[in-house]
Amino acid sequence: MGKKSKKKDGVSRETPEMDKPRRLMYETDEEPEPRADTLASGAPALGSPAKNQRDGHEAVSRETQLAPTLPRPKRPRVIVVANQKGGVGKTTSTVNLAAALALGGLKVLVIDADPQGNASTALGVDHEPGTEGTYEVLLEGASIDDVAVPSPEEGHLWVVPATIDLAGAEIELVSAMGREQRLNKAVRHYVAENEVDYVFLDCPPSLGLLTLNALVAATDILVPIQCEYYALEGLSQLMKTINIVKGELNANLRLGTVLLTMFDTRNKLAHQVAAEVRQHFPEETLTTPIPRSVRISEAPSYGLTVLSYDGRSAGSLAYREAAAEMASRDAGRTE
Ligand code: ATP
Ligand code: MG
Repeated sequence: MGKKSKKKDGVSRETPEMDKPRRLMYETDEEPEPRADTLASGAPALGSPAKNQRDGHEAVSRETQLAPTLPRPKRPRVIVVANQKGGVGKTTSTVNLAAALALGGLKVLVIDADPQGNASTALGVDHEPGTEGTYEVLLEGASIDDVAVPSPEEGHLWVVPATIDLAGAEIELVSAMGREQRLNKAVRHYVAENEVDYVFLDCPPSLGLLTLNALVAATDILVPIQCEYYALEGLSQLMKTINIVKGELNANLRLGTVLLTMFDTRNKLAHQVAAEVRQHFPEETLTTPIPRSVRISEAPSYGLTVLSYDGRSAGSLAYREAAAEMASRDAGRTE
């Protein structure tokens, strides 16, 4: 991306349909969640609920020229989204933050490092067995440029898909040369060759070699924390792993962002957990929590992010706010 204009999907970007934002093709037909027409930051909210599944449309991959509304980081940020706890919102946060940053005019790449391939699904890219992606990068020396494909989401958003083959990579990497550095090498090469602002690495719920590769490749860690009981359990293990990686493999790694997810304002416990997280990570925790929202959980089954699925829902607005907060913090960072 950046230097190249790839059209791997074979879809012409000249068709009249593509002049319109895809989300405007949808009609509203569902009950609304609490909504607002503008974000707290003043940017307009976009879109209506998606009625049609992505499958019902031609896959429309394009790169719109969005006016940049979010500031660019001084250096490309490579963000590993990690928490060995399952189901805390790693993938949901990866795809929606990535989409929000791309919608803000930034250039974004998502590398799906989880054999479940959930990020690939949510970003609407093919990840059938046999599709080239993260496995080929890790084990066959493929370059990211060769396997990245554009997401049909709005803006400059590219994806390295994960197939189920990646499940074997965890074992195959054990005996591979430079096994912890493979993703790092590929990402360094990609960042040097392409104009990109953010690279997101979505990890599986474990601290195995896939997550280790992502931690070694990253500049920043983003930890999503579900606002529920046990939320902080296991975090000390994650912090230990991060410190080992910092000490031995990636001195530049820093805990950049903690994101509160699935926050239910009516739930007292959620407030307690949020307060505790903010006490532990006062600098890192974003002001904006992500609410528990049916729209957020429905979106992936349409192969969409919540921004495209229902741009005016509370979940979409929260992810856009959180992305704006991240971008403004990162724009001020020099390291
Ligand atoms: P895994 O560890 O399996 O990779 P994960 O940490 O990536 O999981 P997700 O897949 O993002 O977690 O989310 C787990 C489930 O919770 C999914 O069904 C998702 O749709 C749902 N979910 C995530 N965030 C929210 C939210 N804010 N509101 C409602 N549901 C949510
Ligand atoms: Mg996941």
